[in-house]
Amino acid sequence: MSQYRIETNCVQGGYRPDNGEPRQVPIIQSTTFKYNTSEDMGKLFDLEASGYFYSRLQNPTCDTVAAKICTLEGGTAAMLTSSGQAANFYAVFNIANCGDHVVASSTIYGGTYNLFAVTMKKMGIDFTFVSPDCTDEELNAAFQPNTKAVFGETIANPALTVLDIERFAKAAHEHEVPLIIDNTFATPVHCRPFEWGADIVTHSTTKYMDGHGASVGGCIVDSGRFDWMAHKEKFPGLCTPDDSYHGITYAEKFGKEGAFITKATAQLMRDFGSTQSPQTAFLLNLGLESLHVRMARHAENGLAVARFLNQHDKIEWVTYPSLEGDRSYDLAQKYLPHGSCGVVSFGVKGGRKAAETFMGHLKLAAIETHVADARTCCLHPASSTHRQMSDEELIKAGVSGDLVRLSCGLEHAQDLIDDIAQALAKL
Ligand SMILES: *Cc1c(COP(=O)(O)O)cnc(C)c1O
Repeated sequence: MSQYRIETNCVQGGYRPDNGEPRQVPIIQSTTFKYNTSEDMGKLFDLEASGYFYSRLQNPTCDTVAAKICTLEGGTAAMLTSSGQAANFYAVFNIANCGDHVVASSTIYGGTYNLFAVTMKKMGIDFTFVSPDCTDEELNAAFQPNTKAVFGETIANPALTVLDIERFAKAAHEHEVPLIIDNTFATPVHCRPFEWGADIVTHSTTKYMDGHGASVGGCIVDSGRFDWMAHKEKFPGLCTPDDSYHGITYAEKFGKEGAFITKATAQLMRDFGSTQSPQTAFLLNLGLESLHVRMARHAENGLAVARFLNQHDKIEWVTYPSLEGDRSYDLAQKYLPHGSCGVVSFGVKGGRKAAETFMGHLKLAAIETHVADARTCCLHPASSTHRQMSDEELIKAGVSGDLVRLSCGLEHAQDLIDDIAQALAKL
């Protein structure tokens, strides 16, 4: 645990320059690194020494920024990936293989749902999707002897349900598997899932962490608390020798604190190569420096807009976790006491057609496949991000045909409200 508060770590975490070194995180734009002897390099390949040899595996700029996110989440190890998709794929595939099974919340991001239900299913990994509001009995019944992990999102995109992290962590641990939480929408500024029992945290850094719609990226953080060796037979990838690394057993050599990220880097990054570039990591770090300041404003604007929509007679329903009366309000008070995020979902009276007309009249909010940007944007998921889903799958994912997802940026709340009001007046 760092000695500083999260605000200070957003600004200065991960990088402490020495005398005469650059104040800003240097971009180490080099694919490779020089060594004096082959023996020196050999030690790196054997994971006997730590250091850099090829930027597909590790790069100093990326590691510096990963270290900042690690501090923000209160973890023991972290790695950057090229996207949030890569982060979630690696986090699950690092422990679940062909023939294994994973329990996941049904209200997850559409891209993650496709990754799990279609692509990873083709790889022989089965998923059981459970409602985040399921009973303890239903949750327990979803586990199988070959279950290797539980997965959910702190604030689901775009359903905006809040996961009862403590309850899901308890169920996961009772079944001797880790809980993986995608913390993209809350960010560690508003929720730190490790404090509630989660074991692994993932991020699409493309969203609030970057925050400016500038770069696609992802991150995985390990709490260092899950005891892999205590469940040796469940996690052979971590607890038995890796032939592709001269028989190293990750959980033995790197302990609870380092095994998960070392394996994901040494095996998955080596073989799949979804690396983040040092340039992107630099941009991500600029975003992280103001994350704490921006999240407060995003949440303030989100709540102001949600309250306005909630009393408007042309609005059918509003979902926003911090809005009084919301189905996730109690969970939001527990897990997100300082605010949730800038994203508000709502239904315009008149359904799909009215939603599209309304969006066409907005002047400040641009129609984009994006959220968590400094600039307000909006999307109609049923005709865009979620269009591959059947009506039944849409309902399970918490996305109705009339749902508009509005991502409140950092503008003045009253300007956003005025823009929405004039667009609604056109209906
Ligand atoms: C966007 C998003 C992802 C995917 O991230 P990319 O960076 O677009 O690959 C995963 N999870 C959540 C919650 C997201 O919002």
